[in-house]
Amino acid sequence: MSDKALRRLHAAYRDDIDDLVTRRPLPGPQLEQLDPFLFLNHHGPQVYPPGNRGLPFGPHPHRGFETVTFIVQGELTHKDSGGHESVIHGGGVQWMTAGRGLVHAEISSPDFRVRGGALEILQLWVNLPARLKMTAPRYSGVQRDRIPALATPDGKGTVHLISGGWNGAAGPIESLTGIFMSTVELRAGGRVTFPGVGARTVFLYVVRGRVEVGGGAAPEHTLVELGREGDAVAIRAVEDAFVVFGHGEPIGEPVVAHGPFVMNTRAEIAEAIADYQAGKFGPLP
Ligand code: MN
Repeated sequence: MSDKALRRLHAAYRDDIDDLVTRRPLPGPQLEQLDPFLFLNHHGPQVYPPGNRGLPFGPHPHRGFETVTFIVQGELTHKDSGGHESVIHGGGVQWMTAGRGLVHAEISSPDFRVRGGALEILQLWVNLPARLKMTAPRYSGVQRDRIPALATPDGKGTVHLISGGWNGAAGPIESLTGIFMSTVELRAGGRVTFPGVGARTVFLYVVRGRVEVGGGAAPEHTLVELGREGDAVAIRAVEDAFVVFGHGEPIGEPVVAHGPFVMNTRAEIAEAIADYQAGKFGPLP
C-alpha cells in the first residue's frame, strides 16, 4: 500500500452572499473541477443575531447533479418540488439528487430567524454521469444520530460515516454512483488511513485546524488535490482538525455548467432552462 502524494493546495477565496460568510475552494483559479466533485461552498462559522433574515437561498432549480449539504452548526430547512421537506440540525447531512430537475429552497426556520444562533454549513456539488443526469429526483435528510460516529484505530479521532463503508460499518446514504463521504475529527497528533482509493478521485477539505497529508501540510480552508498514483490516503492532524473526506470514481465526460444546471452539452443546458421556464420541475409544496 502506498499513500497518494500531495499535488496542489487550493485555498478557498472569500465570496460572501449578503450577510452569509462564504468561502469557496472549488472551482478555483487553478482547478475547474475535481471530477466528479464540482463545487464547494463553506458558509460561516458565524453567529446570526436575533431577528435575522436567515439563509438567502429561496426557491431555485437544479438539474444534472447532486448536492451534499453538511450542517456543521445551526440548522437548515429544506423543501423541494419532489415533496420532500425537513429541518436538519448540526451534525446532520442532506443529500439531494437533482437528476432531471427539482426546485428547492434552503432556508432558515422562523425560530432561527427570531432567536438567531451559530451557523456553519458546507455544500458540495457531485456530478452525475450522462446515464444518470435525467434520473428521478431523490432527497435524504439525515440527522446526526443516524450517522455512525466511528473511533479511529488510534483513539484520537472520529469518522462520521455518511455514505460508503469503512471498518465494517456503512453510512446511511446509498450513493447512486458509489461516492464515499465522511467528515473526520482528529485531535492533535491523531492519524487515520483510508485504503482502497487507487483509481478514485479524493475530495479533502480542511474545515478547521491543520493536517499533514501526502507529504505536505494543509491549513484551514484549503482543498487538497492528491495525485493519481497510490492507493491510500493517510491524514494526520498537526492541531485539532475537522475535515470533509470523500472519494469517487471520475466520470470523464464533458462538463457544461450554467448556474444551477450541470449537463454534458450546451443543447442540454438550453433544454434545462426551457423545461424550468415551462414549469416542468414542478412547484414547491
Ligand atoms: Mn440549491
